[in-house]
Amino acid sequence: MAAVGFIGLGNMGGPMAANLVRAGHSVRGFDLADAALTALATAGGSKATSVADAADGAEIVVTMLPAGRHVREVLTGADGVFARAAPGALLIDCSTIDVSTARDMAGQAEARGFVMLDAPVSGGVSGAAAGTLTFMVGGTEAAFGRAQPVLSAMGKTVVLAGDAGSGQAAKVCNNLILGISMLAVSEAFALADKLGLSAQALFDISKASSGQCWALTSYCPVPGPVPASPANRDYQAGFATALMLKDLTLATEAATASAAAGVLGEHARAAYARLAELGMGDKDFSVAARALLQGQLGR
Ligand code: NAD
Repeated sequence: MAAVGFIGLGNMGGPMAANLVRAGHSVRGFDLADAALTALATAGGSKATSVADAADGAEIVVTMLPAGRHVREVLTGADGVFARAAPGALLIDCSTIDVSTARDMAGQAEARGFVMLDAPVSGGVSGAAAGTLTFMVGGTEAAFGRAQPVLSAMGKTVVLAGDAGSGQAAKVCNNLILGISMLAVSEAFALADKLGLSAQALFDISKASSGQCWALTSYCPVPGPVPASPANRDYQAGFATALMLKDLTLATEAATASAAAGVLGEHARAAYARLAELGMGDKDFSVAARALLQGQLGR
């Protein structure tokens, strides 16, 4: 069992750290919010007083922070992880951040004698609590092997995607598919409504036809066909529009930076930005269907 420093004990990091404690690891965690520290102590971990205090003496340091700038600050700050962790420590960043920052952090970590993985997750807050997250990992096979006991205590599926930054690349590419396909399914339901075709009929036909996809059959964005989908509980997230907007912004910025060709990514990003402007940032991202049906989104 490892001595783990855990930095960023929010909606995701809190339950992830609790699962590490449950698996027998010794977890010393830090967050800017006192309530998050108290929750870790209640779960059996110990409270650190700073990033440096969490990193001191840790064999493994996990970060679960909002965005790339927070990760950069926590790792490279004057009293940050690079300055304080023990030589050879394994650093695992589970935050969703831009690929270029992930690659830069991995390079700096290696130059300082650390081993680093980017390991963003899919599965949301419920997956974090249940320990069923999917980890998409970028880094070396040796580091991946070393991280297994920790990642498998927090997730069910752990995949090595490639070298440094590949975990973040997988995350943004997957969510580009998801963000666009949810809008496509939502637009089809809005059109069906205008054409006098019932939502249930479209669902029953498309789930067995070439329009079949996860956004339709597992997460149907209109109430009725899939009882467990957020559409049946006033679009309570789930996966919030604001988080989808964050991920599509990362995807479109990566596409611009790498000169990747694209047709729909920017349109999808703009649509979720509009939903957020309309006050739906906290709603599940499938609220796009209701906004289209009610004429709040699109023409
Ligand atoms: P959150 O805002 O709930 O948690 C982030 C935590 O980081 C906060 O508690 C904050 O106080 C802490 N923090 C910020 N700066 C810090 C610093 N300098 N030192 C210590 N703590 C600091 O966010 P979250 O929902 O837990 O998401 C974390 C990451 O996981 C994000 O990158 C997000 O995109 C990604 N993610 C979230 C979900 C989800 O459903 N919430 C799903 C997949 C991936």
